[in-house]
Amino acid sequence: MKKLAVIALGGNALLRGDQEGTIDEQEQNTSKTLENLVFLLKEGYDLVISHGNGPQVGNILMRNDAGEQVYGIPQMPVDICVADSQGGIGYMVERMLRNVLNKHGIDKEVVTLVTLVEVDKDDPAFRDPQKRIGPIYTRKEADKLASEKDWRFGETEKQQGGWRRVVPSPKPVRISNEKVIETLARQGTIVIAAGGGGIPVYIDEKNEVRPAEVVIDKDLASSLMAARIGADEFYILTDVPYVYLNYRKENEHWVEFLDHKDTVEHLKDGQFARGSMAPKIRACLQFIEQGGKKSVITEATKLDDKKYGTKITMEYED
Ligand code: ADP
Ligand code: MG
Repeated sequence: MKKLAVIALGGNALLRGDQEGTIDEQEQNTSKTLENLVFLLKEGYDLVISHGNGPQVGNILMRNDAGEQVYGIPQMPVDICVADSQGGIGYMVERMLRNVLNKHGIDKEVVTLVTLVEVDKDDPAFRDPQKRIGPIYTRKEADKLASEKDWRFGETEKQQGGWRRVVPSPKPVRISNEKVIETLARQGTIVIAAGGGGIPVYIDEKNEVRPAEVVIDKDLASSLMAARIGADEFYILTDVPYVYLNYRKENEHWVEFLDHKDTVEHLKDGQFARGSMAPKIRACLQFIEQGGKKSVITEATKLDDKKYGTKITMEYED
């Protein structure tokens, strides 16, 4: 059987932190990132692509806020904002990918799936919202919103006296339409799914699907999807060519191969930063624990050069 790979595009694969966020910039970055997936297609892989939505959903939340203040348009809840971002980003990735395929004479269909991802309503994360989203407010504005909207706020890390909404980030437990994703991918269609970690939902006591005011980590959701559809390989594309030990310290060095045991040790030792590399490492471990053969973390534009990238496998090879 052909190999199946899930590729998770990080924020930087689509929009870099030092950029303004125009659609031209996003299209250029995306196109460059997608170009280096071509070799996987030429090697005969079936592909599923997921993507982050940090900067984009941040912008949607700001528009929400401005729309309410200027025009009195009611703000949309987080699930709707994530759905909007999946549609917008998914469409953009799909169009850029169609052009890349066309350029290389590859005849494949591309489909973008709006994907619901279920969380457990008893997840402990609900009692401890940590993820900062949306605009920065003054204390006074934040207090007002907190009483009007039942939102919770936390002080920003970067700007003193600034307050942002905080929401929980529970673990993904189920990917909707996983069979559809697998079947389409196995038929040779490139599927874009679980964007932004998925539209967060939970199942209530009456067995109804409800929206959750949370955000789901895109690496964990992508890894769960990869395991559930029986992918062989899982790639996280970000802005570093390798995972480093002693990152940004004196004896910093990159690692090309890691087995499960050593990776767990390094994670325990605090080698990977909490909000950035640690969730990626956990996602990689989760994938190989659930039967995946190999997880790779590398830079968005370096995937086609195999000397780059940290490869995480259950055991060291040979
Ligand atoms: P993305 O937005 O692409 O999903 P993040 O910005 O969340 O990715 O995570 C990538 C970042 O993780 C890198 O830019 C790097 O600064 C940081 N990082 C933290 N610890 C490490 C490490 N040990 N090795 C490599 N990068 C690390
Ligand atoms: Mg980033």
